[in-house]
Amino acid sequence: MQSIPFNKPYLTGLEMQYMHEAVREGKLSGNGLFTKKCHTWFEEKFGFGKCLLTSSCTDALEMTALLLNISPGDEVIVPSYTFVSTALAFVRQGAKIVFADSYAEQPNMDPAQVEQLISDKTKAIIVVHYAGMACDMDAIIRIAKAKNIPIIEDAAQAINAYYKGIPLGSIGAMSAFSFHETKNIISGEGGLLAVNDQQFFRRAEIIWEKGTNRAEFFRGEVNKYGWVDTGSSFLPSEITAAFLYAQLENIERIQNQRINLWNLYQNELVSLEQQGSLKLPVIPDYATNNAHMFYVVCQTQNDRDGLMAHLKKNGVLAVSHYISLHSSSYYVDKHDGRLLPNADAFTARLLRLPLFYELTDAQVKHICALVKSFFA
Ligand SMILES: *Cc1c(COP(=O)(O)O)cnc(C)c1O
Repeated sequence: MQSIPFNKPYLTGLEMQYMHEAVREGKLSGNGLFTKKCHTWFEEKFGFGKCLLTSSCTDALEMTALLLNISPGDEVIVPSYTFVSTALAFVRQGAKIVFADSYAEQPNMDPAQVEQLISDKTKAIIVVHYAGMACDMDAIIRIAKAKNIPIIEDAAQAINAYYKGIPLGSIGAMSAFSFHETKNIISGEGGLLAVNDQQFFRRAEIIWEKGTNRAEFFRGEVNKYGWVDTGSSFLPSEITAAFLYAQLENIERIQNQRINLWNLYQNELVSLEQQGSLKLPVIPDYATNNAHMFYVVCQTQNDRDGLMAHLKKNGVLAVSHYISLHSSSYYVDKHDGRLLPNADAFTARLLRLPLFYELTDAQVKHICALVKSFFA
């Protein structure tokens, strides 16, 4: 069998047509026709408050840090088992990151741990819905509400995923999505800030457009526009938005195919879980599965590294995931020294298997046969 990559970006076929339309429109900078189509699409489908496309999820997270006026001395609670950007956006504003551990059974942040980490300086709690599976939002909301602390959702992996029927990204004060080529819905690089708390609507738009009230001016709400606040150039071009819109129009098809592949992995590997060789993803009752990722958790790092090497030798690229951020070379000296054993365990033992639209059933079965042969 041919070698199998970890990921292959999927094109729906409409991308070039829409990008061509954007070019014909003659307006290539941001906040044009396709940007507005994307905003409306998200607002209507998921009920998000105000949507603003960004050049990345990292950008969207940086916007949340600016909107919350995060400054030196503030503390922000972030899971340790996540991508760099979840913490970086707040570190850039001078915040101290207080890392929370994962559950033992799954990588999401354990709310029981979060409660103890809150102090007078806590300015935000950032939740990450790992693999598109919801965090226990009721528990986190209870903790946050008691101290009036805003929740930000890093929903980078969580498009079209739900908590008790509520779309992820609609629960926090603000949420950030990613359309990086490794995600379910892509635009190369790209992201979205969803603002749910109305108090941030106006300023979000200003920060998005380089600290100017340009958007209000073009809507005729003010008679001149100028520099009114901090900000940056967070908006993507119309070319990116056109590409993204083609993907959004095909989201059901993309999701269904990913879910079929995910379920096939689950069925093929469940016997290995039953015999105790490895653990499969845990999907809590309150969460749905958007099939962003299929991962296994081995019993030891040796098993994980051995399995990864075995697959590679047979032409299958499977990859580990995060190095827990509290032990990263950038933050290890700044961390308060608490042990976060569950995050470290996922760093050592989690392995992601290939999952992308064009992966075939036969390839999934082939990969699973290789996994089984490793444990035989
Ligand atoms: C992919 C990802 C990001 C970063 O997204 P970009 O669009 O590349 O900035 C942030 N957080 C999480 C959890 C991610 O998976």
